[in-house]
Amino acid sequence: MALINIRDMLYHAYNNGYAVGAFDLVSLEFLEGIMAAAERARSPVILSLAESHFDYFDFELIMPAVEAAARRAHVPVAIHLDHGASLDSAVQGINLGCNGIMVDASHHALSDNMRMTRTVVNMAHACGVPVEGELGYVPGVEGEDAERHPGGIAYTSVAEARDYVEHTGVDFLAVSIGTVHGRMKGEPKLDHQRLEQINEALGIPLVIHGGTGLSNDQFRRLIANGVTKINYYTALADIAGARMRDNTKSMEKGGHTGLMKGVRDVISAEVERCMRLWGSFDRAEELLAQCKSWAPVEHMIIYNLAGMTRQETETMMAEGRRVLSAIPGVREVVTGHAVKEDAKYRYTWLVRFCHPAVIDSYREHPAHVAFADKLFRPVAAERISIDYQTIESVATQENAMTGLLKES
Ligand SMILES: [Zn+2]
Repeated sequence: MALINIRDMLYHAYNNGYAVGAFDLVSLEFLEGIMAAAERARSPVILSLAESHFDYFDFELIMPAVEAAARRAHVPVAIHLDHGASLDSAVQGINLGCNGIMVDASHHALSDNMRMTRTVVNMAHACGVPVEGELGYVPGVEGEDAERHPGGIAYTSVAEARDYVEHTGVDFLAVSIGTVHGRMKGEPKLDHQRLEQINEALGIPLVIHGGTGLSNDQFRRLIANGVTKINYYTALADIAGARMRDNTKSMEKGGHTGLMKGVRDVISAEVERCMRLWGSFDRAEELLAQCKSWAPVEHMIIYNLAGMTRQETETMMAEGRRVLSAIPGVREVVTGHAVKEDAKYRYTWLVRFCHPAVIDSYREHPAHVAFADKLFRPVAAERISIDYQTIESVATQENAMTGLLKES
């Protein structure tokens, strides 16, 4: 699979002077359009899911499609939770398959922002997942995104940024230098000098939210000063909306599919334009050659039980599925029974971790310790366990590269 660590992706961009688009998707049209553009441009891409958009789609339902798109891609992909509002949202994002997390506590006072961000960073790093923080505040435009991002702009200060990164341990920083969420009215004025100073002080990949409406020249200057991730949504939503309005004009009757005709293609064309402008086109191959694929780990136990009734066994397994699946970094918990009566071992646990780091953080997690010590180990003395990566997850990265080479 061409799912990779977003840290590898953004440091490659940082060291090579380009930026990767983080395109917020709200439907399958967006997902397909974004991925088609990335394949055409042979560009790395970030599939971004904003918590503020969860009213528009079912996060849990769309994530398997997002992961499937990443898995079959020939270009490097990362899946990012955008504007995660709490520790719980961050855990949910990771457990559903995001391998990058943004924690947005930027509307809180600096000390609260730092404390909340630190908590999320500790949890996410124990899962191997990098974190983007935000300092300063990027507001929404009145009548557009103001509801989701209320209040006025607060510029990021250089001294606070240094402090914030040091104390929170964030991997990337979203900065506020004059952009807004939504459609900018008139020519946006950006504080490039401030950005340059922040970049000099931090030396880590920087992020811009509110990319819609900036000129080509402004984008080039942002990237020259350390911006390696550009969040881009409003322009895609506008283009999709315009296409749908055009479709209604030429439709006397017809329904949803007629209305959606070509929407995917116009989104895709705009995404490709951004990839070319931001310098990420044709970078897929060299990036894949330099990074490892994001490979999950499976933790398997096969065991026998002593002195348990069928009902007690079922209860213990159900409790395990409930408790263990809530631990950060756990993608799935599956319990099983042997099919044949004479099997040497009668039962299995399969716990899928998002990253090898979870092997240790899971073992030490209080919920796991309590379950294992009280309910499981006392009755399952006869057991063997293994933590493994599937051959497929290691090999598919090679396939992704072979695919790229074949096409070239
Ligand atoms: Zn944003």
